Order: sequence, then C-alpha cells, then structure tokens
Amino acid sequence: MEAFEKIKKSPALGFVKHFPRAHFIAVAALSVVLVGASMLPSDNASASRHEQVIAIPALSQVDEQPITLPVEPPPPEVKQTPYRISNQTVRSGDNLSLIFKRAGLSDKHMIGLLNGNADSKRLTKLFPGHTLEFSISDEGELVELQYVKSRLNKLVYTKLDSGYDFEEIVRQPDIHSASRSGKISTSLFDAGMQANLDDRLIMEFANIFGWDVDFALDIRKGDTFKVLYEEKFLDGEKLGNGEILAAEFINQGEAFRAVRYVNEDGESSYYAPDGTSMRKAFLRAPLDFRRISSNFNPKRLHPITKVVRPHRGTDYAADRGTPVWAAGAGRVIASGYTQYNGNYIVIQHGNNIQTKYLHLHKRFVKKGDRVKQKQRIGSVGSTGLSQAPHLHYEFLLDGVHRNPRTVINKLPKADSIAKSEMARFQNQTQVWIAELEPTTNTRYAASDILSESAEAKSSL
Ligand SMILES: [Zn+2]
Repeated sequence: MEAFEKIKKSPALGFVKHFPRAHFIAVAALSVVLVGASMLPSDNASASRHEQVIAIPALSQVDEQPITLPVEPPPPEVKQTPYRISNQTVRSGDNLSLIFKRAGLSDKHMIGLLNGNADSKRLTKLFPGHTLEFSISDEGELVELQYVKSRLNKLVYTKLDSGYDFEEIVRQPDIHSASRSGKISTSLFDAGMQANLDDRLIMEFANIFGWDVDFALDIRKGDTFKVLYEEKFLDGEKLGNGEILAAEFINQGEAFRAVRYVNEDGESSYYAPDGTSMRKAFLRAPLDFRRISSNFNPKRLHPITKVVRPHRGTDYAADRGTPVWAAGAGRVIASGYTQYNGNYIVIQHGNNIQTKYLHLHKRFVKKGDRVKQKQRIGSVGSTGLSQAPHLHYEFLLDGVHRNPRTVINKLPKADSIAKSEMARFQNQTQVWIAELEPTTNTRYAASDILSESAEAKSSL
C-alpha cells in the first residue's frame, strides 16, 4: 500500500481545468482505482472519496504539476429509444411480405417502405441466406431496415418524416496474397485439403489446368502443386479466399504453370508464363474429376461378352447422373441408342476430330445441335453393355483413337497474348511467376505478399 499512501499524502493543488483528453482518461481511470483503494480498511484512508489528490510521474513531467480532479459522477442515463430489433434470414421461396410478417410487421409497413423510396424496389430481389434487420419502434413503426447481403454490402433504409432515406454501404476488403503447396499421395482433392485449400480453390485449380491434365487418370503419387491466391480481410478478420493468382502443377515430371492476367477491359483469364492461353480446344476429361471413382480399372476382357478387345478410349466411373460435358465446341452428329453403346452422343469438332460419349443415363442434346465447350450434354449412366455407371469417352483424330495430351501439336492452337499486349502482360504477371519459382535469382518488390507455405504431408 506504500504507493497509494504516498499518493494520498500529496498536497492538494486544486483543480486543473484544462488538460489533454488522453490524460483526463488516464487520470480518471487511476482515480477510480484510488476510490477502490480508499474504501479498503486503512488507518491512512483519510482522503475524500469524491476528490482524490494524485501525483503521477509521467503526467507530472508533461503538466509540470500534480493534478487533482473530482471523481466523475456516473453519467446520466441516456434515454435510449427502445427499438425492437428483428433479424430475419431469407429462406428459399421467401418473399418480402412473408419476411415482414415474421418480423411482426404487416403489408401496410411493407408498402409504406416500397412507396417511401424508389430504391426499395431493390428489396424485391432477395437471395436465400441474406438477412434483413428490422428496427421497430414502440409504436410498431419500421424505423430502419438493413438488407445485409454480406459484410461488404448492405442496403439501409431509414425512416424520415415522410418516406425513407436510402443508402447503400459498400466496403472493400483488404487483399493479401498467400501460397500453399503440397504433394499428391491419393488425389488432388485430398492433397489440396491437407494443404488447407478450400473446395472452391481446388476446383478452380483443376479448372485452370483442365485442358492439360486429366485429374482423374493422369495424376500420380508424388505429383506436386503450388498455388498463390488472394485472401480477403475486413477489419483484420479473414473473410475468405479470392482468386488464384498463379499456380503450378508438376504431373509425372512435367511442369504446368499458369498465371492470372486481367486485360485492359477488366477481363481475367489464365495464361502460361509465355502468354499462351491455358484454355485449349479440348478439355482433358469431360466430367468433374471429383466425382470420378479412384479405384476403377478398365478391363480389357469385356465383363459381359467376355471377349478380349483392345479398349478404345477412356472409362470414367462416376455416380449415375453425374453431368457429362462436351470436351470442346462442335456439332452433335449423333445422339441415340444402340444395344452396345446404350445412350450415346458423338460430337464433330472441325474437320478431323470427333468425341464420343457412351452408356449415358440421359442425353440433353440432339443431332444437329451446336454445343459449347463444357456444355452439359448428358449424364453418366449404365445403359448398353455396361455393368456399372461409367462414362466411356473416346477422342478420335482423323478417325483414330488418340490421347489428346500426346497429340497436342496437331490440335487447334490456343489463343495467345497479342504482341502489342505482351509488355503489359509481363509487367502484371512477372511477380507471380517469380513467386512460383523459389530458386529464382530475381527479386521483385512484393512487400504486400504474405507468403505462407504448407507442405501437405503424405497420408500413406
Ligand atoms: Zn469403355
């Protein structure tokens, strides 16, 4: 108690009326402590509980004299307008009227708002999962409505004497970059999860390389990946992940690299470091790799006819109903049913390439239709000579079954960055390409890069 006693014995020098607010707060806080101390049983507790004399060395240096101040009386009760708050989450099939009713309001209130501001029309498009926060007065009036789309965007309607005021609040997250890398032991998906990538980033990664790599059949244990991506923060709290900035996949010893480039029109796409588009005329696999069963071994001995035939094409086992995509843009030249093929589709791409899709459960295109790349043309089934749901996929070049990966130089060329745009491309992407290359000697100014690497451990 010595320190307190010493303080209490300091001479009172009267009120100091003017001093900086920060000091006032510090002094006020200390005086509260002293009030507490003075209430303890003590022979020396003689100072008034309402007026403390204190001497704080730090403050003394600033103000050059000890100061005293009255203990602040408790602030007067601020009369809070007692609004009732009702938070309502938009459900599927909801409409504004239903939500108003759940908040304890009527159609009269809803119409009052809709007529009270032209921007209230924006409330007629509601999305499940968004929330509406109602502030309702004692008299049952809607004082404020906030339509919260996300932490970054909300619409605020505030009651005026007549009608409603409208304000849209948009916040921008802080963007940092992060990186993750891993080694594949079972599947890209497992390795991605182990490296703490979320589903969307893993799928985006597979999409970026989906023209070069068949993530169901091409991957091997020991393949490695590295991903640089955006992380979004708001008020220091992570909101989620943004776009992939650059990525690398080393598949069976072959390195594939991609970097995101945003052109002058604001359109983004992925390119190899030399400026050729990652998009090619053909997808490597005409279905989502995550839905392909990993333990599927196509047998040459046909399970039903028991005839050994060289297997032309690729079999992908997947659940019945899994969407099947057109591997490339083209025209449907056959869509029908035969005893062996079951439901099948053939697409002609240019003059010399055909793709075939067999054993489909359903067909969604007919002969003569034009299809776009990755358009859903059917679903996986087990029709025709098939024992279990799977897609039999064939790629024919000049009538011969080929692996599109090995005939890449005979396929249509991918789009490239124009010569005139190359300097802009390199300027924008070189920092990310350098980040993919840990052994690079070049150092770019990248102070904003938070690099974090998580080597996924083998799960074997
Ligand atoms: Zn087959």
